[in-house]
Amino acid sequence: MSTPLLMIPGPIEVSPAVVEAFSIKPPSHVAPDVIEAFGRSLERMRSVWCAGADAQPFVIPGSGSLAMDVAANSVVEPGDRVLQVNTGYFGDRMAIMLRRRGAEVVEVGAELGEAPAIEQVASALQNGPFKAIFATHVDTSTGVRIDPAPICRLAREHGCLSVFDGVCATAGECFEMQAWDADVYLTGSQKAVGLPAGLALLMLSPRAMAARAALKVAPPMSLDVEVWLPIMQAYEARRPSYFATPPTNLIMALDVSIGEILADRVADETGMAARFTRHQMAADAMRAAWRSMGLRMVPAEGLEANTLSAVKLPDGVDPTLPGKVEAHGVIIAGGLHPKIKSTYFRVGHMGEVVSHPDLLLRTVGAVAAGLNDAGYPADAATARVAAEKELG
Ligand SMILES: *Cc1c(COP(=O)(O)O)cnc(C)c1O
Repeated sequence: MSTPLLMIPGPIEVSPAVVEAFSIKPPSHVAPDVIEAFGRSLERMRSVWCAGADAQPFVIPGSGSLAMDVAANSVVEPGDRVLQVNTGYFGDRMAIMLRRRGAEVVEVGAELGEAPAIEQVASALQNGPFKAIFATHVDTSTGVRIDPAPICRLAREHGCLSVFDGVCATAGECFEMQAWDADVYLTGSQKAVGLPAGLALLMLSPRAMAARAALKVAPPMSLDVEVWLPIMQAYEARRPSYFATPPTNLIMALDVSIGEILADRVADETGMAARFTRHQMAADAMRAAWRSMGLRMVPAEGLEANTLSAVKLPDGVDPTLPGKVEAHGVIIAGGLHPKIKSTYFRVGHMGEVVSHPDLLLRTVGAVAAGLNDAGYPADAATARVAAEKELG
């Protein structure tokens, strides 16, 4: 059988050109090709983030979690008060990171699968002042997507920073860093950016950089955007620089992936608009397929992310479903949130696969077959037709 298709919420299937770019002997971090790839990646990250020319990109060796820690440590210091909009497992993690930094964290949460109403966030802000509002754009444990725009607006009204964990969203879900006037948007390379794991990617507004400059308690060096800033500035000016060795193979691949993302077009849309539309269409197709099989989503209606589906297991089907689906050539994920872990499964649909209807339909077929093997009567043909309708 051909290699299984990787449809989990990260790492994901990456494009052939990306595979080619990282499948080379490790180049030096001062090699001309690496300098050019690094510099161009930083420049073009602003387009992927829909950020202005004054926003500062960072490419740091590490995971998505490291990017979260960089944000928490670079704009917050001991004694700061932070409001955290919590929609699941990664919100819990962010709160822990902020508390470890010595911040006082006030959480605004909701039932699992829900998100707090913007009025709740606004009323929590009345008990300010807060240094920053932290939120998770898409919480991968619940499949819930929040709307960052009104949170950014509230942050401006209250004079605090807005920081978003975009690890399961950036480059797949619409995020207008400049138009919304957001302060930090971060991700890891193995999600919708379309690379293997290993790069922490962040964008900071001038306000966020000023907040770092004003800290009295400096962060650990590897988590400090001020330590990384001269390195980023040097590479963007096409000069090498060194603080800690960058994963050079991934830098080569990042340049290729960003090029592909920005070159996308669908109907009369180009660039990020096309990219977001493709993810929307793929998500609509997958949801149509799940619904046609009689399945229900974990996220409440209207809050479903476009980058993944979090789907409730139907009655009588146990959490071994991913194993049954894998027998049909597609790897999906089980539940993640400890409170509901054994009651749902997750399918990632971000990056490369959203431009390949055949791969999305193959996934639908494999899930239907796995459900059949588990004794649940899902009709693959009907589900495929439902998905195809959304893919146009
Ligand atoms: C995957 C994910 C993370 C963690 O990324 P790692 O690279 O696994 O550390 C953080 N936040 C969200 C929303 C994620 O989906």
